[in-house]
Amino acid sequence: MALRNLVLEGDPLLRKKSRPVDEINPRIIKLLDDMADTMYYDNRGVGIAAPQVGVLRRVFIVDVGDDNGLIEFINPEIVEKSGSQVGNEGCLSVPGKTCEVDRPDHVIAKALNRNGEEFTIEATGLLARCICHEYDHLDGILFIDRSVDGKIYNTEEE
Ligand code: ZN
Repeated sequence: MALRNLVLEGDPLLRKKSRPVDEINPRIIKLLDDMADTMYYDNRGVGIAAPQVGVLRRVFIVDVGDDNGLIEFINPEIVEKSGSQVGNEGCLSVPGKTCEVDRPDHVIAKALNRNGEEFTIEATGLLARCICHEYDHLDGILFIDRSVDGKIYNTEEE
């Protein structure tokens, strides 16, 4: 198991646009494995994107605890989105903060898996929210940019 250091809000890396993966080599496989270790450690998150561990590549993973389990996305595209859901979000890179974000309620995304095979996934509810949140990271966008009412709440106890 290998944990990677999390890049936190304020670091300019989180605001950069990530580049596509041109070759799924052992470094990318190791990145995926380490991202999963980092996400599952302490049950901290339901998704993590490569820029959050300092790698500006278009890769993210999600696991919202449903039957899909862990899903790895390489060079993802959101090909369809519809509907709307407003809900609370947080982020491993923005500790102690939360806000309400409006996301599509239904998305169809396609990506490559770690074997280089293209797959398509249809997602609703939390999974759709999570895919959109992680996808945003690849374009340097954070959930706090999308607060529906402009408010950011502190979750840390006084
Ligand atoms: Zn995040």
